[in-house]
Amino acid sequence: MHKILSFLVFIPLLGFGQVEQGRLTVEKLCSPAFHGRGYVNGGDSLAASFIADEFGKMGCKFFRDSPFQTFRFPVNTFPGKMACSVNGKTLVPGKEFVVDPSCPAYFADSLKIYRISVDELFNGKKLKNKISEAAMSGSKGGIGFAFHFSLWKGDTLKKAQELAKTLGQSMPVIELVDTKFTWSVSQEQNRFALLQVQSSALDASLDEWIFRVRVEAKMINHTAKNVIAYVPAKKKSKKYFVFSAHYDHLGRMGQETYFPGGNDNASGTALLLEMARYYASNPAEVNVVFMAFAGEEVGLLGSHYYTENPIFPLKEIQFLFNLDIMGSGEEGVTVVNATLFPEQFETLKSINEKQQFLPKVASRGAAANSDHYFFTQKGVPAFFMYTMGPNKHYHDVYDTYEELSFNKFNGIYQLLVDFEKVVCWKR
Ligand SMILES: [Zn+2]
Repeated sequence: MHKILSFLVFIPLLGFGQVEQGRLTVEKLCSPAFHGRGYVNGGDSLAASFIADEFGKMGCKFFRDSPFQTFRFPVNTFPGKMACSVNGKTLVPGKEFVVDPSCPAYFADSLKIYRISVDELFNGKKLKNKISEAAMSGSKGGIGFAFHFSLWKGDTLKKAQELAKTLGQSMPVIELVDTKFTWSVSQEQNRFALLQVQSSALDASLDEWIFRVRVEAKMINHTAKNVIAYVPAKKKSKKYFVFSAHYDHLGRMGQETYFPGGNDNASGTALLLEMARYYASNPAEVNVVFMAFAGEEVGLLGSHYYTENPIFPLKEIQFLFNLDIMGSGEEGVTVVNATLFPEQFETLKSINEKQQFLPKVASRGAAANSDHYFFTQKGVPAFFMYTMGPNKHYHDVYDTYEELSFNKFNGIYQLLVDFEKVVCWKR
């Protein structure tokens, strides 16, 4: 009985590697319960608690008895209503329209939208007529202008953008878009509404576009948390190796729509947790630290705060490896800062060539595009690695758990373990 039982229990565990555990983490972090790990319904704080619990369960240690480092920043949020319809047709938030991240609260029942043509753009008189026609229209529901930037290039585009900016200072502006939306986070609010609408969702043949808009927006002073844990060195050491990944994403755009951030960066967070799980049972020559940063999407705020308020001297960090966009890998990975640290890059490449973990380890120069950046600025040797593959969903509602292949999750995990050993052994 006993033997059979242990046999039954053991078999499923055998096949349960890093990628399976990683999938579970990503699926969880992408679920609606985490609200896109942003600023509505405390999404990012829920994710912080989850990550801290995971570190704790693995047996990682915390500095000063706490996994959290808190900091504050202002951010524009969309906690409530988010609706837009045109001539009675309802548009789907996130798919057919998005508000600009700096959009203020805005309610209109019959906003009359005027479209600007190239002809009007370059004919001062026609443009003036159009604007005064709109202003004189006496539309009680208000007026606004629509621009279809993607139809234009070069000087025309520049001129249209300037005009949209000027008009946007005194009335709502609608931007017609033909490509997928790329959303972000803003730390301020504009005076007037700015919406992006898929041009395919609108009927260009209609003379008149009447918009009904319901947008609740609120500026808040948000408290965010970096989550930090470590595994002490085998024998006492002053040196540190750091793995980092941001866990925050864009959050909610209204109560019904959220951005799951599967690739960016539930995937990197999941890999960070797997690295912690590995070191918790295989301590290294140095202390290995795991930093899950908040506020990255707002402008690298969490990692910046950390570098200004380090828990141990930054100069003791042998190397920092930042993980962001870890969900694919069919076409290998790219390493930012490769040219700044050629020796470490050679090490990484040669391990991969020997072991064939990944089809390609591409080199890239410095870039301020993720949480390694402020560490590099302070003299900490660091890489930022991201995966390359067919998945191009980025900052949109389609960046989901289901879209990730996890193709090279195990390979990257093994590459990182080997890299840490070589780098810390060589010190
Ligand atoms: Zn990211």
